[in-house]
Amino acid sequence: MRRLLDKINRRLIRMRFQPIRVFCFHQVSDEFEPDTMELCDWMHTEVFKKNILMLKRSYTFISLPEATYHLKHDCFRLKRYVVLTADDGWASMKNILPWLAEQNISIALFLNPSYLDGKHYRKRDSEKYLTYEEIDSFERSGNNVSVASHGWRHVNNTQLSSNEIKKEIENAAKELERFHSVIPYYAYPWGRHNVTTDGLLKGYDLIPVLMDGQGNYNDPTMIHRELLMK
Ligand SMILES: [Zn+2]
Repeated sequence: MRRLLDKINRRLIRMRFQPIRVFCFHQVSDEFEPDTMELCDWMHTEVFKKNILMLKRSYTFISLPEATYHLKHDCFRLKRYVVLTADDGWASMKNILPWLAEQNISIALFLNPSYLDGKHYRKRDSEKYLTYEEIDSFERSGNNVSVASHGWRHVNNTQLSSNEIKKEIENAAKELERFHSVIPYYAYPWGRHNVTTDGLLKGYDLIPVLMDGQGNYNDPTMIHRELLMK
C-alpha cells in the first residue's frame, strides 16, 4: 500500500514539475591527451559547444543556487531549466570557460583544492589542473563562474572514517573561502555517498550533489546530476 501511494505521489509530482537537469562534465579540448586525460571523461571542444547550443534551443540555463531556489519554491514548473557543472578542476576548462561567459551561461566548478597548487595530483604528475590564479581571473572576468567543493582530495568518501571525511570537508571549505564565488555544495567524488557521508554533510550546511543520472523534481536537499553526452 505504502509503495503504491509513493508511486502515485511521484507521478503527481512529475505531472506538476518539469525536471531540472544538471549536467556534469570533466575535460574539454581540441585534442585528446592520453597522458593527462581519461577517454570516458573527455569531450571535443566542438562537440561540447554543439551540445550546449542544442540544449539552449529547448532549455533555459540557470546557476546551481537558482536551481535549488526553484526546487524549494516552485508550486509547479512549466519552464525547462538546465544547469552546468564541471568536476575536478581540470586545466582544460580554460578551453570553454570564456566561451560560456560569452554565451551568458553559468557554471559551477567542483574543485579538489589540494591539487590547485600545481604540485600535487590525483594519480599522475602529468595531470593538469586549474591554478588559484586562473580561477581568480575567471571569477574577475565574469559572474558566470562559481566554485564548490569536491572534497580536499579526489577520494572515495564512503571508504573513509568519519574523522577523515570531516577533514576532507573542512580542509576543502577552508581553502575555498579565498574565492568570492564559493557556493555551499559538495559533489561526492564519483558520486559515492552513504548514510554516514550524508549525515556529516548536514552538520556543515552543505548541499550534497550526486551523480546518479536522475532528474530533479522537488527535492532541494539533493541535486542529482547526469553526464553531458558525447
Ligand atoms: Zn570527480
